[in-house]
Amino acid sequence: MEELVSLAKRRGFIFQSSDIYGGLQGVYDYGPLGVELKNNLKAAWWRAMVYERDDVEGLDAAILTNPLTLKYSGHEATFTDPLVDCRNCKSRWRADHLEGNTCPGCGSGDLTEPRPFNLMFKTQLGPVDDGGSFAYLRPETAQAIFTNFKNVMDSTSPKLPFGIAQIGKAFRNEITPRNFIFRVREFEQMELEFFVAPGEDEQWHDTWVAERLKWWGQQGVNENNLELYHVPADELAHYSKATVDVMYRFPHGLEELEGIANRTDFDLGSHSKNQDDLNLHSAVTPNKESNARLAVQNLETKSWVVPFVIEPSAGVDRGVLAVMNEAYRVETLENGSERTVMAFKPHLAPIKVAILPLKRNHEGIVAKAKGLKRELQALGLGRILYEDTGNIGKGYRRHDEVGTPMCVTVDFQTIEEDDTVTVRDRDTMDQERIACADLAAYVRLVSDI
Ligand code: ATP
Repeated sequence: MEELVSLAKRRGFIFQSSDIYGGLQGVYDYGPLGVELKNNLKAAWWRAMVYERDDVEGLDAAILTNPLTLKYSGHEATFTDPLVDCRNCKSRWRADHLEGNTCPGCGSGDLTEPRPFNLMFKTQLGPVDDGGSFAYLRPETAQAIFTNFKNVMDSTSPKLPFGIAQIGKAFRNEITPRNFIFRVREFEQMELEFFVAPGEDEQWHDTWVAERLKWWGQQGVNENNLELYHVPADELAHYSKATVDVMYRFPHGLEELEGIANRTDFDLGSHSKNQDDLNLHSAVTPNKESNARLAVQNLETKSWVVPFVIEPSAGVDRGVLAVMNEAYRVETLENGSERTVMAFKPHLAPIKVAILPLKRNHEGIVAKAKGLKRELQALGLGRILYEDTGNIGKGYRRHDEVGTPMCVTVDFQTIEEDDTVTVRDRDTMDQERIACADLAAYVRLVSDI
């Protein structure tokens, strides 16, 4: 983990937030390469979950959330972790993360009994801080999908089964944030709520577990580092009939990367009016405040059905950590020297192609290299970098370390002889001459987007 954290900072992937003021615990910023990697991972998810299907619509809802939403979702009452205080050194810890019931700070065994600590952040709304007008920062993106269920239904007229997908920030006041970007207080989620007819839920749950495993494989996560954990009944969240966690072998241990839950009809039922007419399977809090019936009507029988929900919910930051961990390798070369390579899948690589002019002050070479940069950038594959540091060998090493799949060198042969460039492959380090006229097609093929 230390090597990854150090590379992440040195090369501009991830920084401690508010670094110059000593940081803010459990909060990180993504730097120039991190933002590209994270955007590419989110784009890959969106492509698979929305564009490549015709039964899923997208949503981008607000972070500030009406307290009623989180009252009826059950979060106000139950979204807690068990907190213990150390009477000796006055520190606080999450009870289920303690080893051996002693304080990790001072080693004392003088701990209080665990008490529930609600993880939601509250923030004041408007100019008067009377304690009454506040909103929550959403602790998951899912709830806004449920509260927008009728809006999306009315505007897109889908038929069951169908889904609503969303990527966005979520906030949890974790008692002990730790392990770099694994457990943080501000993070992003990629969540799909997939609505199915009751009775078809178990089959769809299996389907989504298989789909999601396949997708992580496509992001370069080795299947040997993934394990499924069938959450036992006594550990299930209040809304869940069954949950399968996709566990990944992170540098600090095997932990949850994504949770895939069968949320039954709990959420739509909880947020719905006229609950008594809906034949709900789950036990919900009576709701007199919602103004919408969150159900679909069978046009022949006229009866209302509340769909069951299958929810694949993945953490973006945990995903970034997993793909960085998978990509990281240190190789010993034939001459005994070492090279560090981030072998990202090309579609995730922060920089797709680096264009290196052999001479940074040769007009013809520079003009050709800049022209190629413009041509490749226009393909819309992501960032194409023109870089004129002049030392090609060092450029190759730097781009190995940040995971650039291809370096293109423009030299005298390019402009004086045959209009070809050297394309150097990150993984094999092989170099081949490719005609400039074929370069765009080549880059598009290798980038796999
Ligand atoms: P954990 O048990 O690790 O706290 P969780 O079961 O509470 O996670 P979910 O509520 O299922 O997590 O959230 C879905 C996904 O959101 C998780 O699989 C994870 O990838 C991500 N996630 C949740 N909490 C955090 C966090 N504090 N920091 C980073 N990612 C998180």
